[in-house]
Amino acid sequence: MRRFFNTLTRQQEEFHPLEDGKVRMYICGPTVWNFAHIGNFRTFVFGDILRRYLKYKGYELTHVMNLTDIDDRIINEAAAKSISIDEFTAPYTQYFLEDFDALGNQRPEVMPRATHHIPEMIEIISTLLANDHAYESDGSIYYRIAAFPEYGKLSKINFSGNITGGSERIDTDKYEKEDARDFALWKLVGPDDEPGWDAPFGRGRPGWHIECSAMAMKYLGETFDIHAGGQDLQFPHHENEIAQSEGATGKQFAKYWIHSEFLKIDDVTMSKSKGNFFTFRDLREQGYSALAIRYLLLSVPTRKQLNFTFEGLQGAESTVERLRNFRQLVKEGGDLSGSEGVGADVGQIAKTAIGRFESAMDDDFNTAAALAAIHDMVREVNTALSKAGLSGEERDAVLDAISRFDSVLGIFGPEEAEMLDADIEDLIEERQCARRDRNFARSDEIRDLLAEKGIILEDTKDGVRWKRK
Ligand code: AMP
Ligand code: ZN
Repeated sequence: MRRFFNTLTRQQEEFHPLEDGKVRMYICGPTVWNFAHIGNFRTFVFGDILRRYLKYKGYELTHVMNLTDIDDRIINEAAAKSISIDEFTAPYTQYFLEDFDALGNQRPEVMPRATHHIPEMIEIISTLLANDHAYESDGSIYYRIAAFPEYGKLSKINFSGNITGGSERIDTDKYEKEDARDFALWKLVGPDDEPGWDAPFGRGRPGWHIECSAMAMKYLGETFDIHAGGQDLQFPHHENEIAQSEGATGKQFAKYWIHSEFLKIDDVTMSKSKGNFFTFRDLREQGYSALAIRYLLLSVPTRKQLNFTFEGLQGAESTVERLRNFRQLVKEGGDLSGSEGVGADVGQIAKTAIGRFESAMDDDFNTAAALAAIHDMVREVNTALSKAGLSGEERDAVLDAISRFDSVLGIFGPEEAEMLDADIEDLIEERQCARRDRNFARSDEIRDLLAEKGIILEDTKDGVRWKRK
């Protein structure tokens, strides 16, 4: 039974999607103003694990992850370079996607950009103005928190006092607000200021929170299953998303909320502003593999903090290598003896590992326990392998378990692609030419290359025949 911690209720809950067999989920994506650091990627790798596990369990998925391509930092940096915000964000969007892919993450079904959804944001703000959940002050539009008594239900913050400050990202607008807690939905800009969009309530640009309400509801409907993001987004961002969306529709926005804990370094949160960060590229340049970085990021369950160390990363590097070697060994060790294999237990070992893996993932996505199940299987099968080869059936059972684990975690790396028949025949043809030219070095080289890929050549009087090992 799938259970996980819902921030909204502060409880572990059984997961029941709104629609049988289908899951609609939204994960707050990156702000594309710079290179994402590996702390950001811890949150996105968790999003990927969540996605893959739901698919593994057979759910049909609509997964949305936005790209925030407008905020004050972006506007300031683009202005400083005298380029448009599109020109400024394009390369960072590209870098983000390259790193995201290289880390083995599957692309969400929808990756909408904030600046492409301004009309949707304007529509929600208009509704909020019409039903008194928003008001105008000095040309900007603010959310009226007093109109939403449930405000605070996600973060459980007591709002009886004055709550400005206390968070790096809390809205500290300089304009007149009815209440210090109110936040900007739309910020007035001058007639010639860029970026700016015309709206019935005046030319302006959106506040930060409204984009996620607009994009989530556009692609997932007014109520959907899961909303996730990093711990720091719980307040004010997610609290404000709820206020905006539920204030506009009168319906529950998201049923389950999941928040990832931070990646730390020397026990301090990794962040751009503190300067204590590594990007994915920094680590790749130092020679660490994408697979090891992914392994490290997912090795600790998402609701626990993870402290980054280079020893930990080196450890992850040797672990992923061991896993890869194990898969190779199982492939090669299968059916070698032609016997019945090492005995009854290997199939059972694989089955037990799958059971433990699923129970761990069902228990609030406990990736650490899921990895322990995999490592125990590796150890036990290695012991069995040291005694004899595996039977074909045993080999298939272990390979099947590996491919199940990997469809969720993505830590074994891509399988070596089998050579296509056409490529094999091209190489054989080239080898024949080399032999005719008495270039035996090349001809031997080709034979060895094919042998490495498991292709055996047989010279017959009718020409060369080949078969796969
Ligand atoms: P940003 O690009 O700043 O909007 O952040 C993208 C995502 O990364 C958000 O979900 C943040 O909560 C998350 N995040 C930021 N810093 C960290 C960190 N040190 N560890 C884990 N997640 C983080
Ligand atoms: Zn968001």
